Amino acid sequence: MDGNQVSAHVRGNAAILKEMVEASGERGIAVIGHYNPDGDCVGSVMGMHIFLSRIGLKSVPILPNRYPSFLDFLDPEGRAVIYDSDRKRAERLIMDSAMVICSDFNSFGRTEHMTETLAGYMEKHGAENIFFIDHHTGGYPEGCRHISTTEISSTCELMFYTLREMARPGRIPEGVLTPLATGVLTDTNNFNNSIFPSTFEAASEFISNGVDLGKINNEVFRSYSENRMRLMGYMLYERMTVLPEFGASYMLLSMQDKERFMFQTGDAEGLVNMPLGIKNIGISALFTEYEDNIRVSLRSKGDIPVNELSGMFFNGGGHRNASGGKLTIPLKDVPAYYRSSLERFLLKKGAAAGNEND
Ligand code: 5GP
Ligand code: MN
Repeated sequence: MDGNQVSAHVRGNAAILKEMVEASGERGIAVIGHYNPDGDCVGSVMGMHIFLSRIGLKSVPILPNRYPSFLDFLDPEGRAVIYDSDRKRAERLIMDSAMVICSDFNSFGRTEHMTETLAGYMEKHGAENIFFIDHHTGGYPEGCRHISTTEISSTCELMFYTLREMARPGRIPEGVLTPLATGVLTDTNNFNNSIFPSTFEAASEFISNGVDLGKINNEVFRSYSENRMRLMGYMLYERMTVLPEFGASYMLLSMQDKERFMFQTGDAEGLVNMPLGIKNIGISALFTEYEDNIRVSLRSKGDIPVNELSGMFFNGGGHRNASGGKLTIPLKDVPAYYRSSLERFLLKKGAAAGNEND
């Protein structure tokens, strides 16, 4: 879509959202992100929160767990309430709010241990007071309102077009646009993928309105710790396996590796994209070991739908070229499981392609 088409797509629901936020009053608005919040999630949650504050409305950003430190600049005053470390307060704030805005996810389950609180809110206050803004493929809880499309780079871009409708005839201030630009940068991997005509139109408006893209670049892509840079080298050299027969690769990041490089949240961000730089590698996977599960990150080039691979074998989903999930098997069993998943997935895809040609 181009910018005009996105604006037309969001217009009706943006008007409804505007009425809802204006009616929220003293009880305020909870703006909520997903578990393991990334740049698009934190950017859209903070962008919405700052926008609401600037128009004099009471709102609070709430995230299930902490975001990586390279996103600290989006919340310099530490306004985001982190459910993990402030559970009672987060629960109270959600339950007392007049409405909930869910940003960058499509089902309560993506907030992990906050799921019950959100389900409790829906039961008490009704689904009509919950509004999703998101770029995943549907599946929103029944009765909840949503602004959504997958034909867009990111939730932050969709939020930009939504807020622009809500702000009319005014302008969106730079303080709101900088977090939104950050999410566009991170979800497109610095304008490398998931780009639409509307994306560059939004980027153009960001720059015209004072956003410093160079500064965001420095914060997000050029502020590694030495350990993080060395971990990347180590992972690519020692921990990456290439499977030419599947046009795929995988990396395993164990608890031991994490200890060795003093791993911090976000240190593996972007790592899974790197093997796609190898010719003929169309699928890349990163398996990260935690105490009680293994987080799965999948990326692909071109038409390979890794969200389907994730849904079929990795208890997750996401986008065609970027998806994730989790496993609860030992790390040592992951390579065999990944191979057999790829085998079955590619067989199925091959069969489907064969049928299409019939
Ligand atoms: P990442 O690899 O950066 O953690 O996740 C990439 C994308 O995959 C996310 O933006 C999200 O759309 C999706 N994703 C990640 N983890 C999960 C999960 O556990 N469940 C589902 N349904 N989607 C996920
Ligand atoms: Mn996103």
